[in-house]
Amino acid sequence: MARYTKALCRLCRREGIKLFLKGDRCITEKCAFSRRSYIPGVQHVEAHSRKLSEYGRQLREKQKAKRIYGIMERQFKRYFNIANKKAGDTGLNLLKLLETRLDNVIFRAGFAKSRIIARQLVNHGKIMVNGKKVTIPSYQVKQGEVISVKEKASSLEIIRVAIEDAKKRGNTPSWLDVDYDKKEIRVKSEPTRTDIAIPVQEQLIIELYSK
Ligand code: SF4
Repeated sequence: MARYTKALCRLCRREGIKLFLKGDRCITEKCAFSRRSYIPGVQHVEAHSRKLSEYGRQLREKQKAKRIYGIMERQFKRYFNIANKKAGDTGLNLLKLLETRLDNVIFRAGFAKSRIIARQLVNHGKIMVNGKKVTIPSYQVKQGEVISVKEKASSLEIIRVAIEDAKKRGNTPSWLDVDYDKKEIRVKSEPTRTDIAIPVQEQLIIELYSK
């Protein structure tokens, strides 16, 4: 599966917000966006005074969503097509598909400090769904499923430290039931729009793809 391999911090600077792609580093003074919040390669004044066209705004929202979830264009378009075929609000359907990816669930539950680390944990066979190893980060979790860390991996420092931090923060999404001691996540329900805490106007993405 193709993935973005260039400097991640450039993406935050390009979108004009912190996308929190690097875990702990994002909340320290080392964060590149905190130090240089202007668009890479563009002069400060020019970047901030530029007014986006309607198309530009739609494009930026799509890029932002793709970058937050670490998804390339083809796969993102596929998510849109699925969301569009489903009944109900296409924008919300799209966000739900992104939010219920296995890598995102691992991240949201606090078992990894970034979606990139969560994806690696899945790729490396450290995660199980209903007791079976799943190595596909885009696997869609469903209501009632139980996600756990493989016994051999449960002592991994990277997971242990992330869980310690998550316990202190205590902001687990309401649609997930997380047992930090057992390192288990139960999917209680589908996420609602309020649960999906990302700064994206999904309607603009739908408008872009509907042209
Ligand atoms: Fe973005 Fe800052 Fe994290 Fe880099 S360190 S990915 S700029 S939030």
